[in-house]
Amino acid sequence: MTVFTSVWDNCLQTIRQQIPARSFQTWFEPIRPVKLENNALTIQVPNRFFYEWLEEHYVDLLKRTIRQQLGDKGRLEYQILMPTANGHKNGRTNGAKGKPEPDALGPGMIDAEHIKNPFIIPGIKKLRIEPNLNPNYTFDNFIEGDCNRLARSAGMAIAKNPGKTSFNPLVVFGDVGLGKTHLIQAVGNEVLNRFTNKSVLYVSAEEFTNQIIQAIKNNAINDLVNYYQLVDVLIVDDIHFLANKIKTQEIFFHIFNQLHQTGRQIILSSDRPPKDLEGMEERLISRFKWGLSADMQAPDLETRMAILEAKMNREGIEIPMDVSEFICYNVKNNIRELEGVLISLIAQSSLNNREIDLELAKDVIKNFVSELNREITVEYIQQLVAEHFGVAVDKLQGSTRKRKIVIARQLSMYLAKNLTDKSLKTIGEVFGGRDHSTVIYSIRTVQDLMETDTMIKDAVSELEKKIRMSLNEK
Ligand code: ADP
Ligand code: MG
Repeated sequence: MTVFTSVWDNCLQTIRQQIPARSFQTWFEPIRPVKLENNALTIQVPNRFFYEWLEEHYVDLLKRTIRQQLGDKGRLEYQILMPTANGHKNGRTNGAKGKPEPDALGPGMIDAEHIKNPFIIPGIKKLRIEPNLNPNYTFDNFIEGDCNRLARSAGMAIAKNPGKTSFNPLVVFGDVGLGKTHLIQAVGNEVLNRFTNKSVLYVSAEEFTNQIIQAIKNNAINDLVNYYQLVDVLIVDDIHFLANKIKTQEIFFHIFNQLHQTGRQIILSSDRPPKDLEGMEERLISRFKWGLSADMQAPDLETRMAILEAKMNREGIEIPMDVSEFICYNVKNNIRELEGVLISLIAQSSLNNREIDLELAKDVIKNFVSELNREITVEYIQQLVAEHFGVAVDKLQGSTRKRKIVIARQLSMYLAKNLTDKSLKTIGEVFGGRDHSTVIYSIRTVQDLMETDTMIKDAVSELEKKIRMSLNEK
């Protein structure tokens, strides 16, 4: 046994007694002593991540142990087998923290002569990154609207120039079902289209966490970290999932740093802006804020219509305009639900051999939008009409003879008769106890006016639509 191996062996004996067996296996067994010169023991670690980890977690322990063995002048130097994933030296030889550390351990020296190209390391040689992307999530079928414009254009800029824009990382955040996964995967697919030599990896934060748990179990953290270091564009979905998962955050932090330092692109999604991520380490949050955080909002009516239309085209089906309007009016906050309604509409129609019409749409949509079970009430009609004419609701029930109010009142009665199944008597009661002949008179008046007055006609059809469409509004 050479001197340096026995020195290191002695160190290991001491260390082994002071840390948990698992940590020892993970972080100390893979270390190889290389040489002992001028009071400095050089040890070889598999990669930079490994080095950082040791420096961060075991610096005191190592310092103490090495001094026990070599005396007060004893130092430790590192040799990193695999400095970066792509085999380039990244020019920094004094450790990942970017500046020499003047303590007794000395800087974590990388001996450039010993840097090996990772692609000739057994096992990594033929490694190809499987992107894990869904090919259906593309920019082509991602509809742009005010709600997602910033995130989409940042994503597109990245796809054209991964790692080279200031959007690094890009954090896309917003509520569930608004297209975060679609968009970040579209970026990945677009990168693969444009660059044959770039590797992309999509992973959900949940999956990532499971990988870490497995790796810890199998003592393979290193392999995992090495794998991630090979990636040019790393996409991690739903990072809020990492909340309170300290170990996972720690490893992610190191991977993030590695990739970012070497100009690789990182894209993340979250259900809230980085600053509001609870249970997340401050240093991670601050890194998330380095690039661009872009929010995705609920789409407006036009965007919803465009999305629905695009889906219909893709499914090769057509549904009547009033039906698609009805769906888009009522499903507002979630694009996945919008799709869900469309699919169940298609399914119900073919299973029950029913035409796709407003009735069927209402049936289907009830399962998606809870408030929709509400009946259209006369009060609700009064409220919408009053709003439309800019008058107070109680004026419709009162006896004012002002023309605007009279028209609004008559129109409300007309709509109440057409859109509810209430009797003339009941309707009259809701209008301040008027009798049924007054209601009949009002309905006739409106019918007559509609023939001669286009303003009235338009008002009626607009209100009718509004009432039918906005069933789930308060
Ligand atoms: P999130 O990840 O935000 O929960 P997803 O990306 O899973 O949402 O989107 C839900 C569904 O809505 C997906 O099927 C997606 O294709 C679709 N979708 C979301 N936004 C758009 C859009 N702008 N254009 C077309 N489809 C969209
Ligand atoms: Mg998602």
